[in-house]
Amino acid sequence: MEYEAIIGLETHIQLNTETKIFCNCKADSWGEPPNTNICPVCTGQPGVLPVLNKAVAEKAVLLATAMHAEVQRVSYFDRKNYFYPDLPKGYQITQFDRPIAIGGYLDLPMPEGYTRRVHIIKLHIEEDAGKTKHANGYRLIDFNRCGVPLIEMVTGPDLRSADEAAQYLIRLRQLVRWLGISEGNMEKAHIRCDANVSIRPKGADYLNPKTEIKNVNSIEAVREAIATEIQRQIREVEAGGKIEPWTLEWDEDAGVLRKMRSKETEADYRYFREPDLLPLVMDDEWKARILADFPELPLERRARFMAQYGLPEYDADILTTERALSDYYEAALQAYNGDPKRVSNWVINEVLRLLNERGLSADQLKVTPQYLAMIIRLVDKGTVNTSTGKALVVKVEDSGKPPKQIVEEEGLAQVSDAGALRAICEKIVAANPKEVEKYRSGKTSLIGWFVGQVMRETRGKANPKEVQKILRELLG
Ligand SMILES: [Zn+2]
Repeated sequence: MEYEAIIGLETHIQLNTETKIFCNCKADSWGEPPNTNICPVCTGQPGVLPVLNKAVAEKAVLLATAMHAEVQRVSYFDRKNYFYPDLPKGYQITQFDRPIAIGGYLDLPMPEGYTRRVHIIKLHIEEDAGKTKHANGYRLIDFNRCGVPLIEMVTGPDLRSADEAAQYLIRLRQLVRWLGISEGNMEKAHIRCDANVSIRPKGADYLNPKTEIKNVNSIEAVREAIATEIQRQIREVEAGGKIEPWTLEWDEDAGVLRKMRSKETEADYRYFREPDLLPLVMDDEWKARILADFPELPLERRARFMAQYGLPEYDADILTTERALSDYYEAALQAYNGDPKRVSNWVINEVLRLLNERGLSADQLKVTPQYLAMIIRLVDKGTVNTSTGKALVVKVEDSGKPPKQIVEEEGLAQVSDAGALRAICEKIVAANPKEVEKYRSGKTSLIGWFVGQVMRETRGKANPKEVQKILRELLG
């Protein structure tokens, strides 16, 4: 029997607002001492009132629009009641039956060549809870995270493999960073994910009981945990067993799933309207203001790069991983005003390497798109050779000086002058009689070695093609 997996994901995205969702405490406490960004509101002291941070609603509208979801004119806040030490109010303020956006989808171009469309059921805003830590027999609570704004997004059961689930997270992370609504750093838990997994015989149209996997906090962990669970369910069913609706926790170090508790039903949370907050009214004017500068989205830009510039899918994909990088590419191409693929090669190889090595974003580079275009032109014209051009990218970044100035100051211009090159080649040939003899007796692959000697003599500035021509003549 062949099986297929049915996977739905619930993701929590931490928004990059300055302050928390209902108070003025700083939202981002990463690396700060416990209980330093707290106040009476986010620790649930009696008599306080929450006030909605408008930026949270605005960022939710951006994401909803990018997801093609329907932004609701009126949405409500609700209390989700449960007792846990890291939840000082005894309830979490969230949205339940009237969330800020409904519906929508995200398309996932898969490496295998097909596109998987994942439907979004709903998108809502809510506050985060605190953090519990066990140490020396004590349970320690850090309330810094209480009230940190989150968007929760729930997909339909549309994903069919662990790879598709991983791809969803890759595209979601790309999108939230692109929109500038979250840093989308999974190591800092900016995106957290629960996965609902079930299996059925391939081609069947019913749903079997599902399990929920919690605590998966990296894309690789999501891929591994889901793949492991799919295999477990298949083994269970083939052995004649039944799938129970367990909640499982992924132990990343051990690579195993552990059973947590039988899944609560939603009724357990006794949801009711939050009496301390007004309905959230998203009128047309506010919405228009939020969407005034809505950007071209990554998949649209990827498709345009392929159509407009004739770039291969591979290039278009890499260039649109980050918005700043794709802006950089287009600005460099415009300044260069030539072959789009040539500029793509320079960005993907030289600029991206620099960004990775230095942990920078493309908009922070001192090698501006204009400087990169100048460097490629210098190589095109033969003023410098390719390897000097590559070195120039780093030199411009280090000094901030224009490429031409560096070429002049450091004497990097390529030696193409035939007379000068010939003199150097003659010197090398005269100094290496043994190699000359070997070359002449048939070991012509030695030409590369001779070229290398000349390049060394000229500190890499010689025009290698010219050198090879002269050497062949001399050795001939
Ligand atoms: Zn606070």
